[in-house]
Amino acid sequence: MLRLTNVILPLDHPEADLAAAILERLAIPAQDLLGFTVFRRGYDARRRSAITLVYTLHVEVRDEPAVLARMSGRTDVVIAPDTSYKYVGQAPANLATRPVVIGFGPCGIFAALILAQMGFRPLILERGKVVRERTRDTWGLWRKRVLNPESNVQFGEGGAGTFSDGKLHSQIKDPKHYGRKVLSEFVQAHAPEEILYVSKPHIGTFRLVKMVEAMRETIESLGGEFRFESRVTDLDIERGQIRGVVLENGEHIASDHVVLAVGHSARDTFQMLYDRGVYVEAKPFSIGFRAEHPQSLIDRARFGKFAGHPLLGAADYKLVHHAKNGRSVYSFCMCPGGTVVAATSEPERVVTNGMSQYSRNERNANSGIVVGITPEDYPDHPLAGIDLQRELESRAFVLGGGNYDAPGQLLGDFVAGRPSTQLGSVIPSYKPGVRMTDLGPSLPDYAIEAIREALPAFDRQIRGYALPDAVLTGVETRTSSPVRIKRLDNFQSLNTRGLFPAGEGAGYAGGILSAAVDGIKVAEAVALSMLGRTDVR
Ligand code: FAD
Repeated sequence: MLRLTNVILPLDHPEADLAAAILERLAIPAQDLLGFTVFRRGYDARRRSAITLVYTLHVEVRDEPAVLARMSGRTDVVIAPDTSYKYVGQAPANLATRPVVIGFGPCGIFAALILAQMGFRPLILERGKVVRERTRDTWGLWRKRVLNPESNVQFGEGGAGTFSDGKLHSQIKDPKHYGRKVLSEFVQAHAPEEILYVSKPHIGTFRLVKMVEAMRETIESLGGEFRFESRVTDLDIERGQIRGVVLENGEHIASDHVVLAVGHSARDTFQMLYDRGVYVEAKPFSIGFRAEHPQSLIDRARFGKFAGHPLLGAADYKLVHHAKNGRSVYSFCMCPGGTVVAATSEPERVVTNGMSQYSRNERNANSGIVVGITPEDYPDHPLAGIDLQRELESRAFVLGGGNYDAPGQLLGDFVAGRPSTQLGSVIPSYKPGVRMTDLGPSLPDYAIEAIREALPAFDRQIRGYALPDAVLTGVETRTSSPVRIKRLDNFQSLNTRGLFPAGEGAGYAGGILSAAVDGIKVAEAVALSMLGRTDVR
């Protein structure tokens, strides 16, 4: 099988042009082309008047060695790599102990799935509820202002990415094609097949809920076991080796292999780790607001006359500005045609984030507009970033009126430094509601200054971005974990053997795909350790 990269065709090309492009690239007659599949389809919208599709194709030809010999030295015609997943081992039939996986977000899902597929029958402990019940609780905050601190956007079956846009692209290096394994398993669990080949795949909230259930069933069918509403509140550590975990109800569960995939919002768990002496350090994260613009404005700015084209879908954007005060401001977790959601997991705090459905057809585009901060910005303590997050989220709760409404401000007013009193043409989507105010006091001065400078500058990248009626809501604080639970090359904690910190909460992933990939790597490390092998792939 050959891989042809960078096959460029006009946006509205006829289907037959693909085969014609292959014949031309390989300089072969039609009868020598046995078949082909689209491995990846992206687009190049740098020239709005001539948007093109960019393909990677897998091609079967009659005499592959001869074609390759003719193409030798070319980087755009190569042998297609083997992207299939290879298990590192198989559990023995008489497996005495089972690994424990704490948390069933993308990282815990894939750690548990791979362990189950290798026969290790993991026990999964999840503090939140099964996804259907969790959905009701999550909507309880959005519709009735009732927060369940154990069952919400952050906590429960499926993890933080369940009510999301379900974007599945990532910048991680992936020489072993783990990302392909993740996407293939998602498709098995009823994700749309196109996620395997479109360059920026997304799933959307409703489908994610069904997929999470399907993956749970697969893990159970392979001998895995689930305990929901089972919060881990303590670790049993004996001379630097984990021996088990303790649940909130006092129950002790013995295991020498524990995957800790608790996500970035498990603040009580981070505190417990610190108190138990597990090595934890502060790490950089970002703070800011959600910005909402009409999706049509973004589509026009990005795609010009092709706005609304079905192959392009709702347009996204990526923005960066380096402010004069040395801070970088960037767009984060952009959700085309989506909604801004209330994402707190703690009472009397307000946090924003974004989600969308598969169709991405809501009226607004939203994105986090955030400023990078480092541990030097707050007191020198491993958990000080959490204190800062809490302080900002509490301020937002007060500014929003103390009833889980988010504080909001028109972009034009924010840039001009005057409070907003009413909405303009853009209706914000955050539920339960938005209270117009002055966002100035919601973040540290350096962040406000940098965002104030960045918003007009973004207008040079997306024409119309500085729309005075665009709405900012705050605060965005859960962009990534404020801590890193450092691990060694064997994926075990720096100072606690048998404890495998994993995913976003441990500081080793950012986003659904990278958290899932980290789950696979950690599952492999657990398996090798349980099999007494020291070879880490
Ligand atoms: P999590 O998904 O946070 O899962 C951790 C799990 O551990 C949770 O289910 C939690 O209940 C459980 N847990 C925590 N503490 C304990 C404990 N002590 N005992 C037992 N269980 C515990 N990323 C993208 O790539 N694309 C997107 O479109 C996207 N949109 C998002 C939208 C929203 C609203 C949010 C909140 C996040 C979004 N993200 C998105 C980020 C993405 O969800 C995370 O990067 C990802 O979920 C991290 O996976 P994880 O498994 O490491 O942690």
